[in-house]
Amino acid sequence: MKNLLCITLAALLLLCSCGKPPMQDYCNTREGCLLGETYYENLHLQVWNPNWDATYDDICRDPLCTHDSEDSLCPSSRQLWMKTLVTDGERLYMNATNPALTDENGTVYRQIFSMKPDGSDFTLLHTYDFSTNTSLYMQYADGFLYFEQGFYSGQENFSDNHLGISEQSAYVMRIATNGGKAEKVLEDELDISSSFYADDARYYLLYPNVNGDLLMDIIDRKSGVAEVDAAGDVEGRLYDITIYGEKTYLRSVAEFSAECPSENGGMHVYTDKRWYLYVYHNGKWKKVGESVNGFTFGGGIWFTESEKRYLGSREMPTGGPNGETDPIDFYVNATLSVCCIKPADGTVTRYTLAGDVQPEDTVTIRCAAASGLWVEITNGKTEYAGETSTYHCRACIENGIMMLHRMDEQGGYS
Ligand SMILES: [Zn+2]
Repeated sequence: MKNLLCITLAALLLLCSCGKPPMQDYCNTREGCLLGETYYENLHLQVWNPNWDATYDDICRDPLCTHDSEDSLCPSSRQLWMKTLVTDGERLYMNATNPALTDENGTVYRQIFSMKPDGSDFTLLHTYDFSTNTSLYMQYADGFLYFEQGFYSGQENFSDNHLGISEQSAYVMRIATNGGKAEKVLEDELDISSSFYADDARYYLLYPNVNGDLLMDIIDRKSGVAEVDAAGDVEGRLYDITIYGEKTYLRSVAEFSAECPSENGGMHVYTDKRWYLYVYHNGKWKKVGESVNGFTFGGGIWFTESEKRYLGSREMPTGGPNGETDPIDFYVNATLSVCCIKPADGTVTRYTLAGDVQPEDTVTIRCAAASGLWVEITNGKTEYAGETSTYHCRACIENGIMMLHRMDEQGGYS
């Protein structure tokens, strides 16, 4: 047995040393999904891989495809709107509105497609009525794609276009990743502003109470037993759930006020958001991190640490029709380090920054993959002076330092 284990470990090490990980890293979040080293952003559908010098628009890589054929849809089809993606670690699944299907009653339809990671083998799995303010997002767990299907409740007249949110409800539905018939997951009608998540063992329901605060129920999939208000101890407002590396994480967010030094001397009071990260462990939510700048999944769980300084206030255009302006506060928001939480044991590694970055720059993590981060660089001082300074970098760990390499904004598949 011991020998067998040694051989298995040796085989694993061999696989790793060839640069081919034994299993693809994958993750689905509200922002997008990661499959292997490629990240697909929801809605904007920017596609990125740390081994590329640029980000790419959309998924279809067929050089002969014009993405506008009405007969054969492709994942980049301009006929599909509001695209969101999930992955099961092997294929991608897209949920998109297809306005060409809108019928004479004004019923709008969304469609679920399956495809290979390069966008080929684009196959329709399911079409459903989307005539409500239902969630655009799908969930993946246990061989199934979960989605919400909305309907109008408490009203006889379905053709009335003026029904509000309060008259809408939703059912949680699911369909197998290889297609078939969609089925109802829970008998209960959900409030339309609820969100639903699933891992292999549990369902998680986030729903508003009378004050608009979000509560969470956790339903054991095997027994059907629900734990009501199962996140009462969690700080901040519940945001979303992410399944990553076989662990289930909860992100929450709260506003806070604090003081920072001002350029003109003295202190300045500001408000900001603080994000909290919890992991589900032994039936409880256990806090694993806090960050003002949020958490990003992929090759670990990433966040940044920064220092704020108040620069001053300047009148800025509101975008109104008569050249209206509003005073906007400007800050230096200097990123001091990029940090990585190791999912296996929760340890945090801090990296200082070098390369294409200046000491007072703000580094915002846009997405992450096993060997790198896609980060956005801005500078509060430059913006206060009325100039823009935004650019993008690929960030990789080199000799224990987070090294930033400036990339082109956009490219094309080669
Ligand atoms: Zn195409």
